[in-house]
Amino acid sequence: AINTELTAVKGTSSTSSVRRCSSVVREVERLKEQRERRRAMQAEQRKEQCALKSKDPGNPNWEVALMVRNYRDQLQLNPLRYLSPRGARVQQITVCVRKRPMSRRELQAKAVDIISVPSRDSLIIHELRNKVDLTKFLEHHKFRFDYTFDEQCSNTLVYEHTARPLIRTMFEGGNATCFAYGQTGSGKTHTMGGEFCGKVQDCTTGIYALAAKDVFAELAKPKYRDMGASITCSYFEIYGSKVFDLLLPDKPMLRVLEDGRQQVVICGLTKMPVTKVEDVLAIIEQGNRERTSGQTSVNIKSSRSHAVFQMGLLMPDQWEPCGKCSFVDLAGNERGADTQSANLQTRREGAEINKSLLALKECIRALSRHSSHLPFRGSKLTQVLRDSFIGGEQNKTCMIAMISPGLSSVENTLNTLRYADRVKELVAKEDDPL
Ligand code: ADP
Ligand code: MG
Repeated sequence: AINTELTAVKGTSSTSSVRRCSSVVREVERLKEQRERRRAMQAEQRKEQCALKSKDPGNPNWEVALMVRNYRDQLQLNPLRYLSPRGARVQQITVCVRKRPMSRRELQAKAVDIISVPSRDSLIIHELRNKVDLTKFLEHHKFRFDYTFDEQCSNTLVYEHTARPLIRTMFEGGNATCFAYGQTGSGKTHTMGGEFCGKVQDCTTGIYALAAKDVFAELAKPKYRDMGASITCSYFEIYGSKVFDLLLPDKPMLRVLEDGRQQVVICGLTKMPVTKVEDVLAIIEQGNRERTSGQTSVNIKSSRSHAVFQMGLLMPDQWEPCGKCSFVDLAGNERGADTQSANLQTRREGAEINKSLLALKECIRALSRHSSHLPFRGSKLTQVLRDSFIGGEQNKTCMIAMISPGLSSVENTLNTLRYADRVKELVAKEDDPL
């Protein structure tokens, strides 16, 4: 009708009214177009929803999957893919998060991936919630860390941003410490010890080995070669409040003593001299065997203990290393199930792990504040790592918080992110000029 009207007007009226009319017509047409486009899109979405539902008839999570996907479609993705030419930022405390890929089992069970990593330092967790009328909606929790690694990042890329900058620290006479934190099954051992192929672990791809490679490259530089510096390795496990040497047969228990100057000593801990990467790999493999011997699953007991791998820089004629690098594969942080467990032993272990992880957080906070009060006696873990938290600027710490991508891990994942965020929050305050 508008078109006919327009033709009529065109024939008789002045040019200005034609212009006015034609602009009205254009506006009407634009609105009409918009409406049609919107309807087409809605129809498309409905079709897609139906298709998704019918394609996934047995998937109770299709609705969540769709909500997450719709949200993700609007995100500008620019995840971390390579090390910047300037290298990684060197800070006293670095806090990162690594998301592991979905496992085969999760994919088979049609688990929903609720973690988005839009950029190199941000992360969003989509939590499924119910409104009062029981309609579902997603709550998007946004977090910021020094680095965020998505499921496509390799161990090498993670290493380059986290542990590699710490190698310098050790050669400058400081104590560098790198922690893998997170729930059991989130990828701590994969990151620290190396990729699994079934039950076999390839130690060459873990942070321990990658660090060892760089340590020997540094040691070969004339400065250290001429000094006659050497490297020693230790590998031990903290289970409850007990320390076990992983480099001796049947992992004997060791005593931890504190001398009058608050120096903490692990009595009789093996300090194996090493001269090349292969030596270190052999030590790691030996330690891992001790760690998991007599267990049906790698994760049963090892998830309830902290494993500490250390490399020390030793100058000739000295007993104690002048610089140290410690890598800690922490016990799983999930404790929910334990509180309901009838087993007293399990509950005690859980409480001990909780205590040590809280003490760890407090000690890192103390380090970032250069606080003179260090609550290291709060647990065996912080006691044996006391050196890592004192001494101010020359000591550096990195925490890699590992998370599982699945919807069913949402609570543990949120706990992990909040814990990591507490450490980061203090770092941010530190940098604040006020
Ligand atoms: P944790 O030590 O935290 O309990 P693991 O390192 O044993 O967890 O990882 C659990 C499973 O997930 C292992 O089978 C491991 O191979 C796999 N996995 C973990 N992280 C990754 C990753 N980034 N890429 C591929 N597989 C991974
Ligand atoms: Mg593990």
